[in-house]
Amino acid sequence: MAKYQAPKGVSEYFPPRSNDFEHVMRALMNPALAAGYEPIELPVFEDTELFTRGVGESTDVVSKEMYTFEDRGGRSITLRPEGTAGVMRAVIEHNLDRGQLPVKVFYKGPFFRAERPQAGRYRQFYQFGIEAIGVNDPYLDAEVIAIGYSGYKALGLTNFSLHITSLGDRESREKHRTSLVSFIDRLSLDDETRARAAKNPLRLFDDKRPEIQKLMTDAPLLLDFLNDASRKNFEEVQSALTSIGIPFEINARMVRGLDYYTGTTFEFVHHGLGAQSGIGGGGRYDGLMETLGGQNLSGVGFALGIDRILLALDVEKVSVSKNSYTDLYVIALGDEARKNSFALVQKLRSAGFVVEQSFGERGLKGAMKAADKSGARFSVVIGDTEISSGSVELKNMATGEAVSVTLSALATTLAEKSK
Ligand code: AMP
Repeated sequence: MAKYQAPKGVSEYFPPRSNDFEHVMRALMNPALAAGYEPIELPVFEDTELFTRGVGESTDVVSKEMYTFEDRGGRSITLRPEGTAGVMRAVIEHNLDRGQLPVKVFYKGPFFRAERPQAGRYRQFYQFGIEAIGVNDPYLDAEVIAIGYSGYKALGLTNFSLHITSLGDRESREKHRTSLVSFIDRLSLDDETRARAAKNPLRLFDDKRPEIQKLMTDAPLLLDFLNDASRKNFEEVQSALTSIGIPFEINARMVRGLDYYTGTTFEFVHHGLGAQSGIGGGGRYDGLMETLGGQNLSGVGFALGIDRILLALDVEKVSVSKNSYTDLYVIALGDEARKNSFALVQKLRSAGFVVEQSFGERGLKGAMKAADKSGARFSVVIGDTEISSGSVELKNMATGEAVSVTLSALATTLAEKSK
């Protein structure tokens, strides 16, 4: 066993799997770029209060799962458990909301939650997320959903569903809350559950215990309390999705794990992942910016779970990337050849080819083995003879076929053969 191991429950990606990781990130980013979202890079730690205020104290994320510590200046710091609160903090702090609206940004990177580790649930995990801040428009909700959906589709995922619901506007939520609270008052609940419900009664829909699920069977549903404006808004989101061929199911019992959501909320659920089936989710958050000390502007966004998307691709047997992609492997034998080929390799790389070269004095056999392993499409061996004749044998690694090429024509020949 290695002397040092990674901390318990973190996800790590190293070759060849890390190539898939990059590929997934890029595939998810493309639809966001195509819709004019711009990158935002933020710290992985923030003041603890940003999350307690922003994400909400009734959530598991805040009450049980935060990595919180005191820094050397005695400040309470938390490793970010999610991305939206940090984006909002940055938007307010840097006045991004004083320019063109909506502010449209995307982020990616590691997030931290002290959860019980299991397949698809890690203590450090990766998300790709987008936020569109400052405009409340059902078509913007639909755009955000469509960007996530397009990413999954581009990757080749098929066995997943989109669940949507609406938490309505404040008036609708307050009416529902009154009814739900009096329903919950009549249930016999343990103290802890009751305390949770007092903070956010919707949380009981999310309780995994079968006895609570059963008690909640007849609970009043928010969708039945939407006022006309909220209903119309939700219908517009639905017809916008339908107009671009995105299938969805309405799931009135869906509760997201973060407290800030209002209006449209959604989740992408994969059918091959067992208990950890959520591969992404998001929604609209009307009050978050004001709660965090900014203007009263609405926002909408999502976060997609990279780790689970990789697992979903495995389950669906979709192969996403060839491992690293190398055009040419150059084997140089002898001092003179090593000197010459080192410069040649740089030139070919500048010309746009992916080129690897052999290192160490391992002889032809060992170098050929390395060339094989690299997955390169072509190889050349350069020794003293090749340097003096100025030509090499360009070998096709798949067929074994070799053609004689002058060193000066190597780039053009490679380009031709790569067509
Ligand atoms: P959330 O921020 O809770 O809405 O989560 C958004 C997505 O991130 C989920 O749908 C998951 O795919 C992923 N995710 C959340 N928590 C974890 C975790 N602990 N481990 C792996 N993926 C996670």
